[in-house]
Amino acid sequence: MKCLRCGFEVLTESGNSEIIVKCPKCGWTAVTTYMSEIEDDLTKYSIFIEQGNSTDRELIKLVSELSGMNFLEARNILLKGGRMVVEYAVAIKEITTKLDMVGIEYHIDPIFPY
Ligand SMILES: [Zn+2]
Repeated sequence: MKCLRCGFEVLTESGNSEIIVKCPKCGWTAVTTYMSEIEDDLTKYSIFIEQGNSTDRELIKLVSELSGMNFLEARNILLKGGRMVVEYAVAIKEITTKLDMVGIEYHIDPIFPY
């Protein structure tokens, strides 16, 4: 990536949720968030729950809320695995953040780059 002011090759630094771009020559800086890249992504991603997850009542409730499935369907998918939702990247990120917090095992198809 080149500096927008002087055209010199910039340095990039990754923060928690942003990328900081700095030009070593003229001092131009910019901050871009990962989120904008996610928001522009029009790919539909699927979250597949792995089989053999805990069927703790709280986990079933969470999966049910996030996917719109009823209690039994949500329990079934935690136990046997299967596709939970098909969504755009922003929603997938939100859902998987919640799944990560409670330790539900899953994978995303196609490969989720965020
Ligand atoms: Zn520059």
